Parts: sequence; structure tokens; C-alpha cells
Amino acid sequence: MKHLLASPAYKMACDQFDAVADFLNIPESLRERTKLPKRLVTVSLPVRLDSGEVKVFEGHRVQHHLTLGPTKGGLRYHPAVEIGEVAALAMWMSWKCALADLPYGGAKGGVAIDPRKFSIGELERVTRRYTSEMIPFISPQTDVMAPDMGTNEQTMAWIMDTYSHQLGHTASSIVTGKPVSIGGSLGRREATGRGVAFLANRVSDLLKLPNDSRVIVQGFGNVGSFAAIGMVKYGARLVGIGDASGGIHNVKGLDLAALQEYVARTGVVTGFPDGDKISNEELLVQPCEILIPAALDRVITAKNAGKIQCRILAEGANGPTTVEADAILRQRPEIFVIPDILCNSGGVIVSYFEWVQDLQSFFWAETEIFDKLYRILDHTLDTVIKEARKHNIDHRTAALSLGIQKVVNGKAIRGLFP
Ligand code: GLU
Repeated sequence: MKHLLASPAYKMACDQFDAVADFLNIPESLRERTKLPKRLVTVSLPVRLDSGEVKVFEGHRVQHHLTLGPTKGGLRYHPAVEIGEVAALAMWMSWKCALADLPYGGAKGGVAIDPRKFSIGELERVTRRYTSEMIPFISPQTDVMAPDMGTNEQTMAWIMDTYSHQLGHTASSIVTGKPVSIGGSLGRREATGRGVAFLANRVSDLLKLPNDSRVIVQGFGNVGSFAAIGMVKYGARLVGIGDASGGIHNVKGLDLAALQEYVARTGVVTGFPDGDKISNEELLVQPCEILIPAALDRVITAKNAGKIQCRILAEGANGPTTVEADAILRQRPEIFVIPDILCNSGGVIVSYFEWVQDLQSFFWAETEIFDKLYRILDHTLDTVIKEARKHNIDHRTAALSLGIQKVVNGKAIRGLFP
């Protein structure tokens, strides 16, 4: 699997793992077994476009480990998708699920496609073809997909439909994050962003920051938008927001309702009249109390880690902070990092609730879902903070080591076959 190391994201995930494995003193016999992905599947997806022309897309699914249950993780549609990044994201899902005590291993899928450039019909054909190529490798007990960047509830509905047709009956538990009308869970759509806001607000209370903290969010997709809405509900002031088109900034605070209406109309945040246009690089280093990167990985780097001006770095995205940036942040104890595998785990936690509800065909009220979610997030935050204090380590190392240790324990006790 050495070829994967050509990918900067995969190398970053391995470097993180190696450092934590040293810290935990994981025996050599378990290191490679825990680190390397169990299965990597790459498929070609020939799809007929609306023009009649046939285009072949590349799709991947990586299942990191199957020690504690089925693998779980999103499906990403983005032009920069490559197998190494998918493998890194699958590894992070493993530690995220273990940290939250979910009975899952990590997985991730991706198709190298810019979904904004294709029609709904074309996206449906890509999704159905991808699903049908993956049928030998997925099932509710083997690997369960969910939305990620560039995919949504509709994508999940197509996957469920394609899989169910093949099976001969409806199998709603094959995906999570699907529409409520076909077995989705209440609260799943908002879960990741609301979880990010909940944790940022909890930490803000711990640090005794004022209620009207300034917040900057990079990303206005599913995670960023619900994180921003959540923060504003907690009383914070949204002073900056960015998406792929660039950023906007207003020290007095942006009117979120007007911004949502503007984005619904134009598809982008830039051009919003009530703020100054700013680049994404500048956005990240503006003064604020709470900074929420909620888009791509590796945006906090050695270049800007010394310049960010927040008290709380709440990582809504997966892998937003590079290993080099982490070294700089360790020298900046005034910044409280809520690491990605904790901060954005609300999504997969409610995915777990959705899967359980589907398996039982017994559905819960929204209040029950958020009560349970917040209890898990609160407890996990507390555990991570205590672990960091106990060993005098940063929060990321604490969170990763808690997750990685659980997977190692599972592998050790199950033993090696044959
Ligand atoms: N794609 C989300 C993540 O990265 C959710 C995964 C899931 O719900 O399975 O955590």
C-alpha cells in the first residue's frame, strides 16, 4: 500500500497514527494491522451524459477495518477525489467512530466529479452505476454509506433504491442520511453542524468567553451552514463566512437569514451586499473567538497556524489541520483545539441512530435524538479533556489515542485468523 503515501492526505493520516502509536506503545505486531486499510476498491463508471456522449468517472471505496462492526462513512463527490485521500478519510472515520463508542470501523467513498457541472439525471446515473459496482462489497452489516461533501439525501435515496432493487426488497439500513420519508432519521441533516456548534459553545463556557463571541466559518455546505445557524442561536456573532467562491467579512456581524436567502438564490456567498469581499486565506486569520473550518482538509498549515487569531478552533471539516500546523498550535496554548474526530462526530453519531432505527423499524422523536447526541458529545469532550490533562498532551493526540486504543484492543482480543 506504499503507493498511497504519494497522497499528502494519506501521509498526514499515517504520520498522525505513527506518532500516536509511539505514544501508546502499540506492539509492532498490531501497528500495521491497525493502520493499513482492509479493502480498497476502485471502479470505472461509464455514464451516458445528457448530450448522448459517454464519460467514464473514477470511483473509490476504502474500508479501513471491520474489527468492531460494519464500516461506516460518507461518499464524496469532488473533482480532487483520489484513492489516498479516500483512504485517509476512512482512517479518520475509524478513530472517530471508536472515540464515540460506535460499533463501526471507518470507511469512505468518493467519485472524482464536480457535481455542480452535471445535471440531476447525470448525477443519478453516476450514483446508480457507482452503487451497482459496489454491491459485492456493501451491505447493512458490511459497509454503510452516508452523505459527505458534494452528496446529499437524494444521493442516498438513489443508493438505497439501486441496492434494494438488486436485493428484491427495501433495505433502508444500507445508507444513512437519507430522506426521512424513506427511513431517514429526524435530525440527521442538521446533526454534524449542530454538534459542532454544541461543542464550540460548551468549550466557550469552559473558557468563560462572552456569549456574543465572534465566529468565522469556512464552508457553507451542510456542516458550515448548520454550525453557523447553531452558533447564532447560542448568541454568537457571525463575522465571516467563506465557500469555494471566496469569503465575506463584516465585523458588525452578518445577517444570517439574509445570507441564507442570498446563497439559496445565487449558490455562493461572495457578492453578498452586506459584507466585504475577502479571500479564504485572509478569512482564516481574521480576529475572532471561534474559528470553524468546515470545508476541505489541510487548510490550517505551517503558513497560517501562527497567524490565526481565535480562542477556539472547532474543526468541522475532516483533517483541516496539517501535522506541521499542529506542531505550531501546540506552542499556542491560548487556542483550544476541538479536534475533527470529536468536533464533527455528531453526523456519524446520528447516522448510527438512523441505522439502529432502520434495523428495528422503530423511529424516535427529534428531542430524543438530540438529547442522546448531546449526552455523547458532552461525555466524549470531557473524556478527551481529562485524557489530555492526565498525560499533558494536546487534544488531538488525546482524542486519536482514545480512538486508536479501542481499535487495537478489539484486534488484540479477537486474535489473528488463521
Ligand atoms: N461524512 C460524514 C463524516 O465525515 C458522516 C459519515 C456518516 O454519517 O457515516 O463524518
